[in-house]
Amino acid sequence: MPELIKKQMIIDGKQENASSGETYLSINPATEEGFAELPQGSKADAEKAISAARASFDSEKWSSLPAGKRGKILWKVADLIMQNRRELAEFETGETGKPIRETMSIDIPMAADLFRYYAGAATKVHGETIPVNGNFFHYTVREPIGVLGLIVPWNFPMLIAARKIAPALACGNSIVLKPAEISSLTAIRMAELCLEAGVPEGVFNVVSGKGSVVGQVIVDSPLVDGISFTGSTSVGQTIMQGGAGNVKRLSLELGGKSPNIVFVDADIDTAIKMAAAAIFYNKGEVCTAGSRLFVEASIHDEFAEKLSARAAKMLPGDPMDENTRLGPLVSKVQFEQVSEYVKIASEDGATVTAGGEKHDIGSGKGYFYKPTVFTNVNNDMRIAREEIFGPVLSVIKFSDVHDVIQKANDSIYGLAAGIWTRDIKKAHYVAQKINAGTVWINTYNMYDAASPYGGNKMSGFGKESGMESIHEFYTRSKTVWVDLNF
Ligand code: NAD
Repeated sequence: MPELIKKQMIIDGKQENASSGETYLSINPATEEGFAELPQGSKADAEKAISAARASFDSEKWSSLPAGKRGKILWKVADLIMQNRRELAEFETGETGKPIRETMSIDIPMAADLFRYYAGAATKVHGETIPVNGNFFHYTVREPIGVLGLIVPWNFPMLIAARKIAPALACGNSIVLKPAEISSLTAIRMAELCLEAGVPEGVFNVVSGKGSVVGQVIVDSPLVDGISFTGSTSVGQTIMQGGAGNVKRLSLELGGKSPNIVFVDADIDTAIKMAAAAIFYNKGEVCTAGSRLFVEASIHDEFAEKLSARAAKMLPGDPMDENTRLGPLVSKVQFEQVSEYVKIASEDGATVTAGGEKHDIGSGKGYFYKPTVFTNVNNDMRIAREEIFGPVLSVIKFSDVHDVIQKANDSIYGLAAGIWTRDIKKAHYVAQKINAGTVWINTYNMYDAASPYGGNKMSGFGKESGMESIHEFYTRSKTVWVDLNF
């Protein structure tokens, strides 16, 4: 068995064990063995981190630095991330089962890119002068919020954390980051790299441990001014309730059940390839996964057949192997959830046309699951309504534009959608009618540090990435009136 990686939390710039001395193991989902030993953060640890963040913010040691200086430090963080790319990628792959070729080429570089984007953005955060009635000089200034709790899930641990850390720091906030229990290594490493780059002690704290303990303390604390949360809708609802205590500012990125719509006039070969990528990328553990595939009736059968054949060839393998494109599901819990939904789908009358079972890579170990396609699905079945968060695709037939708009919007979620057609008028019409935060036309799962991203309905609210996140969440505006009447 490879040696366990051991990491400590970062509180007030120092490496800390849990005050109780307790630790837990994060598990490598490809081997089912321990990958890292981490501190089991307690209520007291979370409170200590919050106090450190509060003291650092109140001292203004970070927020009063010139924005350009903060930007330079964040640029250095990006350089350090890239210098440590291999180590970070191995942490991410070891804890989550993402293929190393993806963590090396997508997760880690995109996290660095977020730091670069917000390094540049730091000097572009400003208010405006507004011509009000009367003889007044009237202006707004943009200020940091204060202490922010950043709570993240396990499916893109580094990327989702970077999407929050970089803008929070660019604007002068202090933070307490709570990574998912099963994927904390890259979060802790990022805090170490931020210290090395020059972010002052106490500004960036990371507490590992349980959501119900560490996360809940952050949510309930009156010393925390805002929470940016990415995770499940049910925990998001708990956070809304907890945050009401001191009326915290909230940004919630929650679940999804995104429609991916293929019209008869699409480039069919590309649509088949991309429909598979839309659901199976990162083993379907993607909030925007195109998990409901709507196919126009006249091409439905042939499309489903070709797509199923493609899925059947996409077998998962050892995520540390450079050639692997699909890894194991992240955990036993997730494996059981996917298996359960596959059972439910069959009982509800859907037909499995690919996968539907565990995959053995030869070791007999690991939470590997075959990419799974169901046809004969209708929009009322549980597999079409509930977020599975795994490699399970529901293929649903539709008759025309109006039928598919109605079906696509018939969901509690509104995170993302895909549209495949060569008809430009139809593409834009449908894009306008779909209730989702992001719509991709003839592409899917595209992200960029500059592109605002967030959900509607029970997929949450608040935008991340781009300048919009700075205006919506990481800063507030203050209005100043100056009497000029002589
Ligand atoms: P989760 O909601 O179980 O956990 C997310 C984080 O919240 C973890 O760090 C967890 O420890 C913490 N947490 C749990 N209970 C808490 C509490 N009571 N108070 C405070 N924090 C608490 O989600 P997960 O299983 O880690 O991730 C999967 C979910 O995340 C899916 O529903 C997926 O759709 C969603 N997700 C959404 C987006 C998006 O951008 N919309 C992106 C990725 C994942």
